[in-house]
Amino acid sequence: MAKILDGKIVRDKIARKLKSEISRLRSKCKLVILQVGDLSESNAYIRQKILFGQKIGCLVEHQKFDEKISQAELISQLSILNSQFDVTGIIVQLPIPIHLDKDAIIDAIDPKKDVDGLTSTNLKLLWENKSEGYLPATTKGILTLCDFYKIPTGAKKVVVVGRSFLVGKPTALAFLNHDATVTVCHKETRNLKAETRNADILVVAVGKPNLITKDHVKPGQVVIDVGINVVNGQHPRGEIKTKPGEHPGGEKGLSKPETEPSNRRIVGDVDFDNVSKIVQAITPVPGGIGPMTVASLFENLLEAYKRQT
Ligand code: NAP
Repeated sequence: MAKILDGKIVRDKIARKLKSEISRLRSKCKLVILQVGDLSESNAYIRQKILFGQKIGCLVEHQKFDEKISQAELISQLSILNSQFDVTGIIVQLPIPIHLDKDAIIDAIDPKKDVDGLTSTNLKLLWENKSEGYLPATTKGILTLCDFYKIPTGAKKVVVVGRSFLVGKPTALAFLNHDATVTVCHKETRNLKAETRNADILVVAVGKPNLITKDHVKPGQVVIDVGINVVNGQHPRGEIKTKPGEHPGGEKGLSKPETEPSNRRIVGDVDFDNVSKIVQAITPVPGGIGPMTVASLFENLLEAYKRQT
């Protein structure tokens, strides 16, 4: 059985450190989350961020806008927030409605306050392997988890499945910056099994349950499952994997998205039960990269505070 790379343990360690540092600051660290529309998944993710922020002593303000908001109105709101000294960090919860130009909206955030690390300024710094920027939270969480569990990345073969702007591409670049040899796979990749079996570290960020089966892996590998998928029905062994009110990131006490049935389960992209019998180490879903993403966002927020004061 593989070693479980538990993101909750690492998140809690990060939370204790952040809380202690934040309690010594001369003013409050404040994160503003802008949400457009009312997606239940986004509501749950935002609730997690608010809970974590409260736990470590940060202010988290949630600004919710009608899904019909115009691009100009949203950009105007971002420029107001950019100019407010008490606002340390700003994020726009994705996805946003398609009538809005995501790139233009994200680029309207002051890069110093871009704690999601998604503005073109911060992505360019990642591209150039410069440390002045902020790493996107999920990517940072993956690297921190590897570091905590002493998984070396230098000279390792890393295969990233998924090439999204949010996860796949920045994660591939970050591993490259850590001296890994990186392969990126996507829908058009010809022989996915051959590619994934070649990895020392396999990162999967696709959004398809059971995409990675026992045939995609081999002994000795580290598997990092970023995927979050809500499926219906009981777990094959009989238990329901998420407790009522628990969300993929693993925080308790969250309201369950209204549209999901009571026997919903959260699964990743990897067939955990079978893959974990083969590989050396694996992240669970929930409780792996989800909690790491939230903690990493707040590490970026504290860093933003230090850079702005
Ligand atoms: P996305 O934007 O939809 O990108 C999915 C990627 O997967 C695309 O690059 C796509 O390839 C690739 N893909 C789709 N089918 C494939 C296949 N059969 N074989 C190989 N590649 C395939 O999704 P995302 O935003 O990156 O998110 C991915 C997953 O991570 C989702 O489940 C999301 O919920 C989860 N997520 C989790 C966290 C966390 O904190 N744990 C954070 C963010 C996202 P093409 O480019 O060719 O279309």
